[in-house]
Amino acid sequence: MQRRALIQSALAGGAALLAGCGRDATGREPGSTTMQTTAESRAGRMPVLFLAHGSPLLRDDARWVDELGRWARALPRPRAVLVLSAHWLDAPLSVGATRPVPLLHDFYGFPRRYSEVRYPAPGAPELAARVRVLAAAAGPVGEDPERGLDHGAYVPLVAMYPEADVPVLQVSLPSLEPAELVALGRRLAPLRDEGVLVVGSGFLTHNMRAVAWDGGAPPSWATDFDAWCAEVLAARDVDRLARYRELAPGVRQALPTHEHFAPVAVALGASLDHAERASFPIEGFTYGSFTKRSVQFG
Ligand code: ZN
Repeated sequence: MQRRALIQSALAGGAALLAGCGRDATGREPGSTTMQTTAESRAGRMPVLFLAHGSPLLRDDARWVDELGRWARALPRPRAVLVLSAHWLDAPLSVGATRPVPLLHDFYGFPRRYSEVRYPAPGAPELAARVRVLAAAAGPVGEDPERGLDHGAYVPLVAMYPEADVPVLQVSLPSLEPAELVALGRRLAPLRDEGVLVVGSGFLTHNMRAVAWDGGAPPSWATDFDAWCAEVLAARDVDRLARYRELAPGVRQALPTHEHFAPVAVALGASLDHAERASFPIEGFTYGSFTKRSVQFG
């Protein structure tokens, strides 16, 4: 059965769902050795990304598809992709399917062809084992082995890796609190040295009441908030980012809810222990007030 507990209630109730942890019957941790090989060690550290994931309509946006594809081709070829999407909030951190299962077409009101998209990327059981070990440092790790990639994960991947030949694992966002998400990013950061592309997937601005599918000029609250994010992320200013709800101009309109912003904190956290710069391979606005700003650290 699908388990999609709202993170707020899980945290407020203090009764985190638990479905196993990352040890086998012998007590060994199956992912306790790294995935690194000689080839990966030569390739160096993978960047870490936050991307704006669009909507099911992204596939019809030739410019955006091209931007995502060119970005992916400019990156080192990943051994696997680990995605944390705004569309899966669950505590404790839970591991999705590690074998190909149907996608989660978690949207409504779009023509049927958007629900017929397939993305049969290989599963990533070895990466899942590593995630269980790394995440277990902060508590139990859940399992949701039937959960496929949601649209926050597969929509951008269809554009980035259209051959579906890179193994993909999705895990849940276990919190909406930036400090906790930054800490999670730090715990996942060693994967970058093992050929894993860690991707936070959301939107820096996400107000569905203001959506304009036909586009139009972005309102000032959206451009102000986007500019603030650009400055803070370029500086990798984790303290200001963590206080975005009180500091950022336009935040109330930009983010009536916070799940789409949350993944950027994971990405920033995974970069903090290294001296590296932030860049913005994709910028601009879509659907009126939705910023496409996407970030690469490293
Ligand atoms: Zn979304």
